Amino acid sequence: GVVAKHLSLSYGKTEVLKDITLSVEPGEFFALLGPSGSGKSTLLRLIAGFNQHQGGSLLIDGKDVSGTPPHLRNVGMVFQNYALWPHMTVWDNVAFGLVERKVDKKTIQQKVEDALDLVGLKQYAKRRPSMLSGGQQQRVALARTIVIEPQVLLLDEPLSNLDKQLRVQMREELKNLQRTLGITTIFVTHDQEEAMTTADRMAVLDKGILQQVGTAAGLFDFPGNRFVAGFVGTAN
Ligand code: ATP
Ligand code: MG
Repeated sequence: GVVAKHLSLSYGKTEVLKDITLSVEPGEFFALLGPSGSGKSTLLRLIAGFNQHQGGSLLIDGKDVSGTPPHLRNVGMVFQNYALWPHMTVWDNVAFGLVERKVDKKTIQQKVEDALDLVGLKQYAKRRPSMLSGGQQQRVALARTIVIEPQVLLLDEPLSNLDKQLRVQMREELKNLQRTLGITTIFVTHDQEEAMTTADRMAVLDKGILQQVGTAAGLFDFPGNRFVAGFVGTAN
């Protein structure tokens, strides 16, 4: 799991995360909700190790990871802008993390094939990212992260560019995969309905402050404050 205690982070004088205390259970599918600029991506980047917190502590699977670089955290992250390698094919993009980890060729072949199959892009393996739609690129980014089977999966609006039908299909598949492999997952979404229907629990963030953590029913029936009530109550 992921345990954050009194985490804070500032960019210069701007406090972006304030005293975040949060516990995500092992194997949990956890959604992070909040308006634009509330600090969702910053929090994920912090858990992944791309940002360093200035105060508090962070534990991943019981281990204090303060100062541990991203590649030693066993965490996979799909970024909001899913930066794929433009000069590599879809296949090579997905295989990259496995090659880096010196996995044998045959296993790479199988795993990349499975991952591309999962996101429905097997037939695009030889293309470059620039020749794909935004939603297809997003799915490559997802495949690239899933293929390394991280212990903790951080997803920053990984389905935002997909149409409704594909989005629902992908999130079901993602959830099945997550359940099967037991990966602790933190999922950022703007879509309250998506969080409500897929997440075991969720947290609402506003202006860098954690407003409430709970189940969909808990937040909906017993919002802790006016912000949560408004935010959870409004479907968009
Ligand atoms: P969105 O839903 O739009 O993606 P978010 O909740 O992910 O928003 P963050 O990207 O975490 O928000 O940003 C939180 C705040 O931190 C914003 O006010 C943003 O302008 C600021 N911020 C983010 N990155 C930096 C940076 N590198 N330097 C300075 N300020 C930053
Ligand atoms: Mg963001």
